Amino acid sequence: MKKALLIMTIATFAASAQAQEDNFPYNNEQFADIQMLRYKVEGFENLTLRQKTLIYYLSEAALQGRDILWDQNGRYNLRIRRILETIYTNYTGDRTTEDWKAFEVYLKRVWFSNGIHHHYGCEKFEPGFSEKWFRDVLKTITPPDECLHYDMEEILPVIFDPTVMPMRTNQRDGEDLVLTSAGNYYGEGVTQAEAELFYAQRKPADDPCPIMMGYNSRLVKENGVLREKVWREHGLYGQAITKIIENLQQARPYCETERQQRVIDKLIEYYRTGDLRTFDEYSILWLQATEDLVDFVNGFTETYGDPLGMKASWESIVNFKDLEATARTEKLSANAQWFEDHSPVDPRFKKENVKGISAKVITAAILGGDLYPSTAIGINLPNSDWVRRDYGSKSVTIGNLTDAYNKSARGSGMGKEFVIDKETLDLIERYGDLCDDLHTDLHECLGHGSGKLLPGTDPDSLKAYGSAIEEGRADLFGLYYVADPKLVELGLTPNADAYKSQYYTYMQNGLLTQLVRIKPGQNIEEAHMRNRAFIAHWVLEHGKADKVVELVKIKGKTYVRINDYEALRGLFGELLAEVQRIKSEGDYEAARKLVETYGVKVDPAIHREVLERYERLHLSPYKGFINPVYTALRDSNGNIIDVRISYTEGYAEQMLRYSREYNNLPDVN
Ligand code: ZN
Repeated sequence: MKKALLIMTIATFAASAQAQEDNFPYNNEQFADIQMLRYKVEGFENLTLRQKTLIYYLSEAALQGRDILWDQNGRYNLRIRRILETIYTNYTGDRTTEDWKAFEVYLKRVWFSNGIHHHYGCEKFEPGFSEKWFRDVLKTITPPDECLHYDMEEILPVIFDPTVMPMRTNQRDGEDLVLTSAGNYYGEGVTQAEAELFYAQRKPADDPCPIMMGYNSRLVKENGVLREKVWREHGLYGQAITKIIENLQQARPYCETERQQRVIDKLIEYYRTGDLRTFDEYSILWLQATEDLVDFVNGFTETYGDPLGMKASWESIVNFKDLEATARTEKLSANAQWFEDHSPVDPRFKKENVKGISAKVITAAILGGDLYPSTAIGINLPNSDWVRRDYGSKSVTIGNLTDAYNKSARGSGMGKEFVIDKETLDLIERYGDLCDDLHTDLHECLGHGSGKLLPGTDPDSLKAYGSAIEEGRADLFGLYYVADPKLVELGLTPNADAYKSQYYTYMQNGLLTQLVRIKPGQNIEEAHMRNRAFIAHWVLEHGKADKVVELVKIKGKTYVRINDYEALRGLFGELLAEVQRIKSEGDYEAARKLVETYGVKVDPAIHREVLERYERLHLSPYKGFINPVYTALRDSNGNIIDVRISYTEGYAEQMLRYSREYNNLPDVN
C-alpha cells in the first residue's frame, strides 16, 4: 500500500515569494497538468564507500525494469514511445510551430505516465497535433529508423482514435472491466468473467497462508484455453528481469548484514522461478531486515493498475534511513504511554498499555518503475494479508520527497493568496514544515494506535463512516498534542508558539484550500478530505459564540482568522474525546451525523471563490520527480573507488537516456 501525496502540500506552501532556504533547484519544468521537481539526496556524500556502492548497484537494478511497466500499462506503449522518441531526436523541420509544441507536450506526458494514458485519471491523452501532421512528419524522418517500419495503420488509431483503448484501468461498475481496460495484464479477448472464474477455480479451500494468486503473470487465451504467462527469468519480461538479477548480484557483496544478503538471494530465487511461495518467503525476510541503513523495494508490488486488483505493476525504490528524523519518531514512540495517559479522552476508552509505532523515515536515492516520476510519500509493505497478520509490515515515510514538495510550494503564491496577514505567513514560513512533519508523526506513530474499543463493540460498526472517523481521530490526536508543552520539553518543537503554524494551515485547508480538489457542484467524498472538513467546520461552529475562529471577508476575499489559539486547542481536545467515544462505543448514528453535518457538503459560493483564486495562480495539480544521476568512479582494475551524485540532468534528457540504456524489452511482449 502506498500513501499518495495528500493535500498537505497545498496546505503547507509555507512561504510567500521568499527565496528558498537553500539554492537547490527543487522546481523544474511545467507542462500540461504536471510540475516536475527534483529531490535532494541529503547525506549521500557522508555515506561510506560500501554504502554508496550498494546504492549504486541497487539503483541500476531499479532502472532496469522500466520497460516492464511500460508494457504492463498497454501493449502499444513501447512501440509508441520508440516512434515518438525517434521523431523527437531526428526531426529536422521547424521546431517552433504549434504542432511541434503540442507534439512535445504529448511526448512529455507519455513519458510521465509510462504510457499513453493519464497516470492518475487513466484516460487516454488526446494529442494536440493532427494525424495528418504526424503522418507528414513520419515521411521526413531520415534515415528511416527501424521502428518506423511498424504497421502504422495498426498503431495510429491507438494514438488518435479516442474510441480505441480509451481507459487504461476501467473501474466503472457494470462494464466488463477486463475487456474495457487497455492495461496489458490480460491477453486479448479475455473477459472479466473468464478471469474471475479462472482464479476462483484455483483458490485453495482453506489455506491459512494463501499465495497472492495471479500476482506476477499475464492471463492469456491461446486457442481458446486460458493460461498464465509468468513474469520471470526466461519467461515474460525475462530480458529485463535478467538485467535486474545481474545488478542485484553485483550489489550483494556490499550489503551491510548477512540478513540483507539473504533478502537479495531470495529475491533472485523468486525472479528466477516466479514462484509466489518464494515471494512470500522473500517478503518475510524483507520486512524483518530492519538494521541496515540502506534498504530497497524491487519487484511486482502494487495492484492498482489491474482492474481486478490482482496483478502487480513493477516498481523500485532505493533508500537509506534518515537517522535524525527517525530519532524524532522514536522519541514519540518511547513516550507513547505518557501521551495516552494525558489525552482528554474518557479513561474508559484509553489503553492501559500502549505501544507507539516507530515508523522509519527514509531518504529516497532513486525511483523506478511505477514510483517514477509520479511517486508515493509513504509505503507500507508487503501486501499479503497473511504475512501482515503473522509477521507485520514495514512502514516508511519518505522524508526528502515530502520536503521537496514543501520546498517547491514555496513561492507558489498559495500562502500570499490564502493566509490572512504577514504575521501569520511569517509564522508558517518559520515553523510550517517542521510542525507539519510533527503532526504527521503524531498521527502515524501515536494517533492511530491510541484508544481502545469497549468490550463487545464491533470494529466495523461505523461502516462507511469508519475511515473518515478513524483518520479524524488520528488527526485530532496530532492537533491536540502538537501544541503541548511536552513537545517543547522533548525538544521536538522549538518554542510554545510554533504549533500555531499547524493550526492555521490545518483550519485554512479544511475550510478553504482543500476545495481546489473538488469539482464545482460535487460533495467531498474522500475520507481524508472529509475528516479535515468535519474537524475544521465543527470547531468553527463550536467556537462561534466566543469567536475562537472566524471566516472573514477582506476586499471580497475569504480568509480564516484565528483569534484564540488556546481555545482552539481546547476545542480540538473536546472533539477528540467525542470522536474517541464514537469509535469506542461504535456509535454509528453519531458518526453519520458528525460526518454528514460537517464533512461532506460544500458551500457553493466559497467553493467558487476558492477555485477562482487558485486558478489565477496557475499551479499544476500533479507533480513528479527527475532522478539524480549516480556515476561510479573506478580504478584501473574496475573497482569502484567513489560514487558521485549529480542533479543536472534535464527531464527529456533523462527519459531519452533511460530509453537508450535500459532498453531491455522487445516491441511486442
Ligand atoms: Zn492515517
